Amino acid sequence: MKYLILSAIAALTVSNNSAQNTSTASKNMTRVDYANTITAEDLKEHLYIFAGDEMQGRMTGTEGQKMAAEYLRSFYKEQGIQAPQGAEDYYQEIPASYFTRLSEPQDSENVVAFIEGSEYPNEVIVLSAHYDHVGTRDGKIYNGADDDGSGTVSMLEMAEAFQMAANNGNRPKRSILFLHVTGEEIGLYGSKYYTENPLYPLANTVANLNTDMIGRIDPDKKDNPNYVYLIGSDKLSQGLHDVSEAVNEKYINLELDYKYNDENDPNRFYYRSDHYNFAKNNIPIIFYFNGVHEDYHKHTDTPDKIEYELMAKRARLIFQTTWEVANRDERITAD
Ligand SMILES: [Zn+2]
Repeated sequence: MKYLILSAIAALTVSNNSAQNTSTASKNMTRVDYANTITAEDLKEHLYIFAGDEMQGRMTGTEGQKMAAEYLRSFYKEQGIQAPQGAEDYYQEIPASYFTRLSEPQDSENVVAFIEGSEYPNEVIVLSAHYDHVGTRDGKIYNGADDDGSGTVSMLEMAEAFQMAANNGNRPKRSILFLHVTGEEIGLYGSKYYTENPLYPLANTVANLNTDMIGRIDPDKKDNPNYVYLIGSDKLSQGLHDVSEAVNEKYINLELDYKYNDENDPNRFYYRSDHYNFAKNNIPIIFYFNGVHEDYHKHTDTPDKIEYELMAKRARLIFQTTWEVANRDERITAD
């Protein structure tokens, strides 16, 4: 525990220094400059700690999950990003009794942070990624570097970039909630709990952009790895889908692959990660995903196998899409 927190703080010190260096050019920074503060190096530094062996696979309710939660909380505190109202010190506590599928359930918590909007503070965009994983089995640690360490540390970097913009006078017009959910691997519990006990009314929740696995390459895509799978973007809001496409074309140029968006796809990924609990409530969503690979849900899903440059590019896409949804004049709505 002590070693872990020390290394966590060391990592945070590094990113703080880089934030201070860039802040000298603050007045001239554009949304592209902010997006470019999301770097492969920073993501890698976070992920080697967050998906390191000390975290013991981050199984819901275990010591490893609590350490992971503490890592996230320390980050937001260090960055000066506020805790939302109603969440004690960045934690939304979930009682053990809620985790009905566990044989010996323990309390767990979602970790939440908030950047308030300047013009429409009551309209909230929720960014989500699950930070739990499946723990240890047969003495092996399941690090979950891609699943979903990749989405988790990407959210940290996005939050840092939005906070830097806010500090420089470029606060988003709408609010952004950073929601790190627990209990995903055992049944999407953290996102279910959030949508049943929302910190901000669901009626004012503009969209949910969910990131679950963006650090690897699907073996089917190895000849053309400049891609990300998007799922659900057009299911509830053509407006959100159009914004997503336009932002990618203007700023990022990844191939947005909709293969798994097909209603008839047997994998049914649309129903299998945390965005689904928002979609059930008629909130427009996008699910960002790299597809499965040979290390999916194995103890070999480790940080050394992550494609950090590609992951940074995907994270910048999500950042830019969030920026657009947060700052455009018209609110995104369900059709
Ligand atoms: Zn996952």
